[in-house]
Amino acid sequence: MSEKYHVYVPDLEYYKNQIKCQVGCPVRTDARGYVTAIARGALEEAYRIARTPNPLASICGRVCNAPCETACRRGDIDEPVAIRPLKRVVTERFGVESGLPLASLEAEMEVGAEILGNLTVRSRRTLVELAQTPGRKRGKVAVIGSGPAGLGCAHDLAVLGHEVTIFDAAPYPGGMLRTGIPLYRLDRTLLDREIQSVIDLGVELRMNTAIGRDVTFQQLREEYDAVFIATGLGEGRSLRIPGADLDGVLKAVDFLLNVNMGYKVDLGQKVIVIGGGNVAADAARMALRQQLAGDRPLTEAEVLELEREAASVETPAEDESLHAAVDAARTARRLGVAEVHMIALESWEELPASEIEIEESLEEGVQIHPGYGPHRILGKNGKVVGLETLDVLSVFDEDGRFNPKFKPNSEKVWDCDTVILAIGQAADLRFLEGEEDIEISPRGLIVADPQTGATTAKGVYAGGDVVYGPRILIEAVRDGQRSARAIDGQIQQKRVERRTRVVWTERKNHTMPEGYTKRPRSRVPTLPVDRRIGIAEVEVGYDLDEAVAQAERCLNCGVNTVFDGTKCILCNACVDVCPWDCLKIVSLTDIEGDETLNAVVKRTYGYDLTELAEQGVPAAAMLKDDDLCTRCGLCAKRCPTGAITMETFSFTEQLVYV
Ligand SMILES: Cc1cc2nc3c(=O)[nH]c(=O)nc-3n(C[C@H](O)[C@H](O)[C@H](O)COP(=O)(O)OP(=O)(O)OC[C@H]3O[C@@H](n4cnc5c(N)ncnc54)[C@H](O)[C@@H]3O)c2cc1C
Repeated sequence: MSEKYHVYVPDLEYYKNQIKCQVGCPVRTDARGYVTAIARGALEEAYRIARTPNPLASICGRVCNAPCETACRRGDIDEPVAIRPLKRVVTERFGVESGLPLASLEAEMEVGAEILGNLTVRSRRTLVELAQTPGRKRGKVAVIGSGPAGLGCAHDLAVLGHEVTIFDAAPYPGGMLRTGIPLYRLDRTLLDREIQSVIDLGVELRMNTAIGRDVTFQQLREEYDAVFIATGLGEGRSLRIPGADLDGVLKAVDFLLNVNMGYKVDLGQKVIVIGGGNVAADAARMALRQQLAGDRPLTEAEVLELEREAASVETPAEDESLHAAVDAARTARRLGVAEVHMIALESWEELPASEIEIEESLEEGVQIHPGYGPHRILGKNGKVVGLETLDVLSVFDEDGRFNPKFKPNSEKVWDCDTVILAIGQAADLRFLEGEEDIEISPRGLIVADPQTGATTAKGVYAGGDVVYGPRILIEAVRDGQRSARAIDGQIQQKRVERRTRVVWTERKNHTMPEGYTKRPRSRVPTLPVDRRIGIAEVEVGYDLDEAVAQAERCLNCGVNTVFDGTKCILCNACVDVCPWDCLKIVSLTDIEGDETLNAVVKRTYGYDLTELAEQGVPAAAMLKDDDLCTRCGLCAKRCPTGAITMETFSFTEQLVYV
């Protein structure tokens, strides 16, 4: 018997899931919406779409880990659309970098309307005005931590009209955005401005105030209607191997914090970073820059030697990676730089660091050695002199659990002056000692409801890394926003529910940009390797022409081919014209599906699928494989009866009171 086509009748979830970038974004940014707006040259509109759900849109334009790109359907064809760098193009023009808090009142109103949900925005009001929304019960909320989770929560609570105070132990706000992410990836003026835009809503910021030391947690519970805990993971994990407490063993988060706060850390000549993730790559690249900080003018002899060397090295123009390696070697040589090695348990394929971090690390001269596990740290007179490793046989067991196995007698010694441990972070929850009603997980994290962030204690909410372990900044923002809504519900004494708002728009003259399926993703321009010194931002960003060209690669997955069966004459013209073979007209006896499919068939023919086959009733269905479709619209153009229309589906998700 031939196999049947498994058919799914599209419903709301189906159409939503078509827009994979939006579904992939924790705050549901309509990336397709702003990317296609850039393609049309509508930059301010693009900014408005990008900013509406995300109070840290400008920061995300620089350093978001971009789950939208991981989800992007274009990635199944060649490479995902460059969604994150495209966001930067519009935030640079209209975001905090541009010097304007929000580009237009319209933009502010959209942000306000989104946050206020089903509360009517009666007049044209700015966010600051909305923060004084009259006629609502105002609450007093304490937020612990000024990282992305704390900022996301404070921003939305302020717009909802509450009095918010952020407490932070550090001298400057931003959490890991400031102390973890290196300056060469995130400009601190931009960070300051984005944080200022939250403070401008009337949020009070109390820095140098550690809860548990300067103020007790109990005091906050007594004084405020609700407390949101967003204290992140400030503690670097240590290794349980001999020598881990030697002088010269640093934890990556401590090292990065010191350098980011402007302190010089003496690393010696040779540095080993243990770890294969993004934090390890950040630490390694920063270590390299620490060495570079000792930059000195070249002597004439060194210049001559370099010129001789450059003339003698053949670098085939087509081999970019060789170019980069040679560049890096030259740079290192020129500056008399010592070595930075990254040693990771994982193989090249398994390395958890992102592709771009690995690429840029290698370009800059970081030497990556996958497949080695730290065995002991070697010391002399209490100071690190080397690292002994074992070869790794496997990192994960059959169940996919982290359980490294090492090859016996494969010891290898690496000389070094400093070992930086980048093997994970932990939460410091000492400030919660004695708070018996707050449940802590066996992993040492706070237990919280994933929908609201409510902990097991009344009026206490938590979000960000302190609840979920190391994640990415936009997930922390989302946690903060969710809890803001839940806290508001608690104060207003209303229940909060998630609702989806849907808009369908017919596209009468739907076209796609010329050559869009063939255009490759271009690499975001970066500084030449020999100029990547100190705090200089590595990524330069697309210019406008390239941004438009890149935006035109978007497959516009929100566009759907909508079929009207009553007009279809089964002429097959749409099937013939489709360049990707994603349309098929088949007999109903060749399809199978769930209850919804059966119900649709029964409603149309009076019989369900089994009965139709038994009765021998001739009937056909138009099937479409949306994963293959590039939304070219040729089928709609070709249809002689107007049975096919192209229509844009868009959605927003709001939490509303019920
Ligand atoms: C080196 C590094 C690089 C990263 N790079 C990226 C990246 O490129 N892209 C990305 O998306 N994500 C990145 N991340 C992850 C991202 O930074 C985190 O997921 C995010 O910052 C977590 O936000 P948070 O608000 O939960 O906590 P945090 O940002 O850690 O903020 C916690 C805040 O709480 C304060 N605090 C802690 N305890 C107390 C207390 N008792 N009293 C008062 N205040 C307290 C701290 O001082 C801190 O300011 C990176 C992380 C690191 C470590």
